Amino acid sequence: TLSDRLTSVLKNLRGKGRLSDADIDSTCREIRIALLEADVALPVVRAFIAQIKERAKGAEVSQALNPAQQVVKIVDEELVAILGGETRRLNLAKNPPSVILLAGLQGAGKTTLAGKLAKWLRGQGHTPLLVACDLQRPNAVTQLQVVGEQAGVPVYAPEPGNGVGNPVEVARQSILEAERAQHDIVLVDTAGRLGVDEEMMRQAADIRDAVSPDEILFVLDAMVGQDAVNTAEAFRDGVGFTGVVLTKLDGDARGGAALSVRHVTGQPILFASNGEKLDDFDVFHPDRMASRILGMGDVLSLIEQAEQHFDQEQAEKAAHKIGSGELTLEDFLEQMLAIRKMGPIANLLGMLPGAGQMKDQLADFDEKSLDRMQAIIRGMTPAERADPKIINASRRLRISRGSGVAVSDVNDLVTRFFDARKMMQQMAGRFGMPGAGGGGS
Ligand code: GDP
Ligand code: MG
Repeated sequence: TLSDRLTSVLKNLRGKGRLSDADIDSTCREIRIALLEADVALPVVRAFIAQIKERAKGAEVSQALNPAQQVVKIVDEELVAILGGETRRLNLAKNPPSVILLAGLQGAGKTTLAGKLAKWLRGQGHTPLLVACDLQRPNAVTQLQVVGEQAGVPVYAPEPGNGVGNPVEVARQSILEAERAQHDIVLVDTAGRLGVDEEMMRQAADIRDAVSPDEILFVLDAMVGQDAVNTAEAFRDGVGFTGVVLTKLDGDARGGAALSVRHVTGQPILFASNGEKLDDFDVFHPDRMASRILGMGDVLSLIEQAEQHFDQEQAEKAAHKIGSGELTLEDFLEQMLAIRKMGPIANLLGMLPGAGQMKDQLADFDEKSLDRMQAIIRGMTPAERADPKIINASRRLRISRGSGVAVSDVNDLVTRFFDARKMMQQMAGRFGMPGAGGGGS
């Protein structure tokens, strides 16, 4: 698996500075193989990897993760984003009935899905009507009637013994029936062929034109692998669709079809089917699919743990330093950068209770003065940051020139730092923080 192959790269030490090209390349090589093994289509893999490299190149090295872990994290985030981020809900019409049309190859799982959706919608207080427009196979109508019964949802179908019905006419009539019997959603099951063919596409398109659906769901068997792209393109061009449902995710397919279809058609994946029973069905979860495609849920949870552990370690270290009066300008800078990542300081402080009265002071605390502080600290040597007491007058002048500020700004920063450190230490003592109790600044 990918995790096995990545072990050697994952063992690298924590990095400094930026992610190196070598780190990015070696990790992306493994990711590429993993995506191909998950049956993601080759052009999609290429485009996706190029996008990952672009983003990874600009990324700062995380303190918590080694470079390979970090690339994996980026890949995972991008995958989740491409697969849809937050799940989209069904589009329903303002004036019922809403019409949902199911399209896809024979055996994809449309009829089964019709039953699942009907049951799910009913559970949400809707009053769906199932419509049998697959009049191609002799037992297709019966199959829908069976799942309809299981779902507790009525089925609209042509009268038996009336010869072969016309699916377009059945679809049209079903809307009238839904209006008459006050069904708020109409679920139209259609016929599929084993392969894509023109007649099938035309029939689906004719049904579409007869009922103007609010959603056309393209139902795709996740096991089809590399064929997903061709099939999706054929349905996109022949009928068009507004969303995708992946079925048979209970099988051993890694789910690369999800990424391919999403990438090629840009349409969101709304639901996932994972079994033959009506309850084997859920809204689509991009994060779960991403770790399934990468095949490394375990690595992802390790990464999460490493980050949490690191945050906790940092917090404890900082608390100890504050309590013992060992806080350095280096820590100060680090904390400042961490806080600034969260957004404008005034906004952050504004969220604190009681900060409303401090508005005037907050206004002074502008981003420019933060930039200035950052520049000053960066202009110091590591030894000076660790112990600002050693910064003499001539060094203060040098630092001020190097960072483009006045000497008084440097003096100010150093004085304020000592004051702040003393005050924090006193507060830490009062709150019983670790390391507190030592004296002096
Ligand atoms: P249709 O031709 O598109 O209407 O497909 P069907 O709904 O008739 O499904 C074809 C076969 O796939 C049936 O045997 C279903 O029981 C099975 N099937 C459908 N969805 C799933 C699923 O999510 N998992 C599994 N394991 N089988 C499924
Ligand atoms: Mg069917």
